[in-house]
Amino acid sequence: MEPTTRVLVADDSPTVRLVVRMELEAAGYDVCEAVDGAEAVEVARRARPDVVLLDVEMPVLDGYGALAQLKADPALADIPVVVLTGLDGDETVVRALAAGAHDHLRKPPGAAELLARVGAAARVGALQEQLRARVEELDRLSRTDVLTGLHNRRHVEEQLRALGAGCLRHGYSLAVLLVDVDRFKQVNDTAGHAAGDAVLQAVAAAMAGQVRAEDVLGRWGGEEFLVLLPHTGAAAAQVLAERLRATVAAVRVPTPAGDLGVTVSIGGAAAETPGDHDLLGLADAQLYAVKGGGRDAVRVVQSRG
Ligand SMILES: [Mg+2]
Repeated sequence: MEPTTRVLVADDSPTVRLVVRMELEAAGYDVCEAVDGAEAVEVARRARPDVVLLDVEMPVLDGYGALAQLKADPALADIPVVVLTGLDGDETVVRALAAGAHDHLRKPPGAAELLARVGAAARVGALQEQLRARVEELDRLSRTDVLTGLHNRRHVEEQLRALGAGCLRHGYSLAVLLVDVDRFKQVNDTAGHAAGDAVLQAVAAAMAGQVRAEDVLGRWGGEEFLVLLPHTGAAAAQVLAERLRATVAAVRVPTPAGDLGVTVSIGGAAAETPGDHDLLGLADAQLYAVKGGGRDAVRVVQSRG
């Protein structure tokens, strides 16, 4: 058992609260109390217990009412609730379990059973918490590019859809920059793939140091990166693009094959009015023009929609 496991004991009987508190504290639990259902919900919000022991028959708000409120609150819904029932029996137990209770305990609970059920409930809660953290971590990983640590294409595509929709609806400006590493195939062919990876990582790190907190920078694929610039028009996007280009051009990449210089070409497009914009297509066309014009340059245009 975790020494810091906190149990909320909600019962209108001072005797029950006292006895249960003493048993739990003797076993190392941290105990808080509530004298009715309404207070139980309030204390749960404030104290964030790991387990709730909930009496059924209580004034103001009974155990069923409190259980319903706990389960309706996303922040509290996963806290395991053990319902305290009298001798009245199965109907109460069935109803409480159906309403989301984790377990039940008949009053007066013996010390051994009390600790066994509270301990089991706490373990279930802890496992759920671990599972939730794991799911969050997996979600983060599924949006991260392994090589560069930037957002991956999936995340950037989602953000582009969301920002694009917001731009159309609310009429704020949005710019995208498509960044392509110049002569990347040559790096891979002559210096090897490890050097190619080092170049991509160095370009990613250099750009990550230049974008603003609200910008979205991701690896689009291969040697291409995409930057989303919310609330940014063509002129400001052009300035940022030039800064990205210059920052990358100043980088020397240490590789197994010796230090390498690297440059990028950047094509961009900005929408400053609501409309049917193909920012990605337009940015790609600008990138193509920059590549044809000798590389290591930027070109950003305003989309007419
Ligand atoms: Mg009672």
